[in-house]
Amino acid sequence: MQTSALYLNGEWVTTSTTRPVLNPATGEVVGTMSVADRARVAQALDDAHAAYPAWRALPAKSRGQYLHRIADQLEQRTDEIARLITLENGKPMGQAKGEIAMSVDHLRWFAEEARRSYGRVVPHQVDGKRHLVLKSPIGVVGAISPWNFPLVLAVRKVAPALAAGCPVVLKPAAQTPLCAVAFAECVHAAGLPKGVFQLILAPAADVGAEFLANPKCRKITFTGSTEVGRLLIAGAAETVKPLSLELGGQAPVLVFDDADLARTVEGVIIAKFRNTGQSCIAANRIYVQAGIYDRFVAALVERVGQLKTGNGLEPGMDVGPLIDQAGLDKAVAHVRDAVAQGARLLAGGEALPGSGYFLPPTVLAEVPAHALCMQEETFAPVAAIAKFSTEAEGIALANGSIFGLSAYVFTENLDRALRVVEQLEAGTIGLNDGVPTTSNCPFGGVKQSGWGRELGSEGLDAFLETKHVSISLSSGL
Ligand code: NAD
Repeated sequence: MQTSALYLNGEWVTTSTTRPVLNPATGEVVGTMSVADRARVAQALDDAHAAYPAWRALPAKSRGQYLHRIADQLEQRTDEIARLITLENGKPMGQAKGEIAMSVDHLRWFAEEARRSYGRVVPHQVDGKRHLVLKSPIGVVGAISPWNFPLVLAVRKVAPALAAGCPVVLKPAAQTPLCAVAFAECVHAAGLPKGVFQLILAPAADVGAEFLANPKCRKITFTGSTEVGRLLIAGAAETVKPLSLELGGQAPVLVFDDADLARTVEGVIIAKFRNTGQSCIAANRIYVQAGIYDRFVAALVERVGQLKTGNGLEPGMDVGPLIDQAGLDKAVAHVRDAVAQGARLLAGGEALPGSGYFLPPTVLAEVPAHALCMQEETFAPVAAIAKFSTEAEGIALANGSIFGLSAYVFTENLDRALRVVEQLEAGTIGLNDGVPTTSNCPFGGVKQSGWGRELGSEGLDAFLETKHVSISLSSGL
């Protein structure tokens, strides 16, 4: 099997150290990836730094044209790259294609948004002065991305950084580097100058340490667990390194008595089971008001029975494998813990026999508040449901978490909808909507779900510094 290469300073580089890439649906090796060392990370930052002056000097429109060309490449290779995503991540092919479509949209959004990184002219307060507020690129960016959406979460960093005028060194997750290699091929084919985008895989702690310590790396943008986010925050104290952090979630869902049942079930199905539940915005705690509780639980269980679980390469699958044995073990442990504490298991709950890390869609009802699946991020196709009575109680339950990435509300009552969304502590809220993420609106968390926002105009701002220029005029006017 050919070893996949790193993309460093415009060259394809293979290394003597490699690691296998596994298919979580079968356990088979589907690729071999080059692995560099910390010194090579430092070299990549040097090369990015060298590429910086020319890249930032380009008109924003020209940088945008490069991004459009990368998007064209991705679009043309959709079927092939979707297959790669499914092979190394496990998600069903249809969802992998959706991930590519969203990546293309992110690239095109930031290609255009680059042209709108306006500064401003501020009216002067004193005769003889003028004031400009300029936006400048922050400099070389170190980006670290996770395995659960291996392409789109990398693009969510790379596209705005490049658009803003910042070279990027990307480290993908070790489990899913192959689609990052395909993305690097798209960048290469789009003709970006060398050093502007680089792809490196090296031991994660070494990459983090080098990004933190190296003064040429001016910003770290990270998506992953809150645990690693905390390590980066601690490390950044030394050099006051700016960080954008997209961390863990534990999304609550509030289903009110006045919700439209059919619409709510479809919304919860997608919010819970898309990406096999391995989404940072996956519905983790489903709180249902007493008056609709029994009907909702019955309808959800019936709908879950229609979902197909299996190898994502086979047509018609809705739910794929979990990423690895640890992910499967955690999910099964959460189910057993909930049942031991009195929850009713209404669907799924047991790992499928044979190869691969499959847990069929699982529904637990009357889950007590102290069960692990109500306290932690399960990151699996496990729908944990509990009953509540009043609106105030529902809001308190939803906000009772250290996380605040996303939340979902289902109600047909406009007054209630507005009251509730105003009080929920979350960065993204789906109101009767199971898929709330879009290129043109900000995405990110409050509380321990992170710092900063991706996407929207805020996504570009994350890679821009604000500079005030105060001008004293000799005429004194
Ligand atoms: P993880 O934190 O283990 O890994 C994420 C990335 O960080 C990987 O590339 C990994 O190699 C790297 N990493 C690991 N240790 C590091 C270190 N010491 N220094 C620097 N980098 C290091 O997370 P994961 O298990 O791969 O991903 C799942 C988590 O990511 C979940 O908690 C999920 O909620 C979160 N997530 C958040 C978002 C969001 O937008 N907020 C999106 C997707 C996933």
